Amino acid sequence: MPVTVTTMGWVDTHCHLQLAEQPATQLLERARSVDWMVVPGIDSSSSRAAIELCARHPDRLLPTAGLHPHDAEHFDTEWDDIVALAVSAVAIGETGLDYYRDLSPRESQCENFRHHIALALEVGKPLITHCRDAFSDVYDLIEASGVGPSTVLHCWTGGPRWTKRFLDLGVTFSFAGPVAFETGDTVRRGAALVPPERAMVETDTPYLAPPPHRTEDNEPEWVSLVGAALARVWSMDIDLVSVVTSQRAREVFGGPPGTAI
Ligand SMILES: [Zn+2]
Repeated sequence: MPVTVTTMGWVDTHCHLQLAEQPATQLLERARSVDWMVVPGIDSSSSRAAIELCARHPDRLLPTAGLHPHDAEHFDTEWDDIVALAVSAVAIGETGLDYYRDLSPRESQCENFRHHIALALEVGKPLITHCRDAFSDVYDLIEASGVGPSTVLHCWTGGPRWTKRFLDLGVTFSFAGPVAFETGDTVRRGAALVPPERAMVETDTPYLAPPPHRTEDNEPEWVSLVGAALARVWSMDIDLVSVVTSQRAREVFGGPPGTAI
């Protein structure tokens, strides 16, 4: 019989350890309550860096490869590398649409997102999607492609209306710092509609630190503060939130060897 290890810790499903100022080894050391983490790339060089970093910590870190909507205008020079790196990644992304900052033309963002959707479907890996002020277009592209059941909506900030619509597409919602922000009432009203077994938690390190760390660089150990906010929203024991969200993370990403239940 294979040995099965049952763990009770958190899974940080989205932390850019390769982009943090503090050394990843220190952040890993401090992340005592976190069993394992997903390290998303945002372009070819950060995806390569994620793959290299994760190869040094295969028991705790899993890499992804993708091109962020902010850099979608560089699609032509980036895409071949992303496709090649995807072989070594557990998921495709971070990609998506960002109409709040609009750092790349929206047409390029949609084209970039469409290619990631097709790649995720082709290789059978989850799609990590960033969606900021672009709910309608993200919804349409996911719905038209049928990629919903393998889509992770990272740092989900939708209110009740969009949360309900995306729920019907079969997506997984990953919650980050904003669900714990003082100004996060809309996010919490959306989260209240999400069945816990369809949710995961993340920090988006080094960004979006939850209170009481708002002005600091975020780090994986603080993912429990996101979990605590969800525990309040769902009136659920925080240990159960950790078990349920970690189980979903395993279903979506598989988890590092030896961590499967
Ligand atoms: Zn991110």
